[in-house]
Amino acid sequence: MTTCIEAVWDGIEAIVLDAVGTLIEPVPTVAEVYASAARRQGVDLDREVVRTRFAQSFRDDENEENLEALATDEPTESIRWRRIVSSVLPELPEPDRAFEELWEHFGRPDSWCCFPDVGPSLALLRAMGLPIAIASNFDGRLRTVLAGLPELAACDPQLIISSEVGYRKPHPAFYQAICECLGQRPETLLMIGDDPENDVLGACRAGLRGVWLDRRGRGNGGSMRGVAGLGDLVAHLCV
Ligand SMILES: [Mg+2]
Repeated sequence: MTTCIEAVWDGIEAIVLDAVGTLIEPVPTVAEVYASAARRQGVDLDREVVRTRFAQSFRDDENEENLEALATDEPTESIRWRRIVSSVLPELPEPDRAFEELWEHFGRPDSWCCFPDVGPSLALLRAMGLPIAIASNFDGRLRTVLAGLPELAACDPQLIISSEVGYRKPHPAFYQAICECLGQRPETLLMIGDDPENDVLGACRAGLRGVWLDRRGRGNGGSMRGVAGLGDLVAHLCV
């Protein structure tokens, strides 16, 4: 794991970025969108309740996984999200309708925004001639989402998506797919992301370097140190 920002760039040939929570976030929030879907079926739910349920359901789903279960594909991701939607909104009379609406919503570019530091940071990396890849536990919808966000479309990144690779982070095969896609040895790749396990520890076990993007400055309850923004990290490239 890399904690010294000044040393992080030595020998790096390409940058690998996570997507959700690192480059993009849903606007309006997941809780607001789920609560609206419930309201369309006559069910009024407090947004904070929805937010807590979603966080728990998403966490439970990840925790249930083991290396074996990290195998995935497009149908598996659809089933997973159907399970999460029904667990977050169990009161709905038409759960299938809510799932279809939410699946469609989060597959649209206008449901997502880039964090403010993304455009300038990617422009700087491009100017330095560093290849950029985005590696995500999303599904095929991510291609449409990213193509519709100008800050990301402009840098024309390589996309490595778990449902297309066949394995989710932190399975070793996912990081191997990154290396193959970029034609690079793992030690020349720097992975940056907001998930300590998927974007840092898993990447480091596979031989990549990893930096944790702790946008909310909350720490991880352990010894891992993060950087607060992409700008802070990329600025060191120029010194
Ligand atoms: Mg993320």
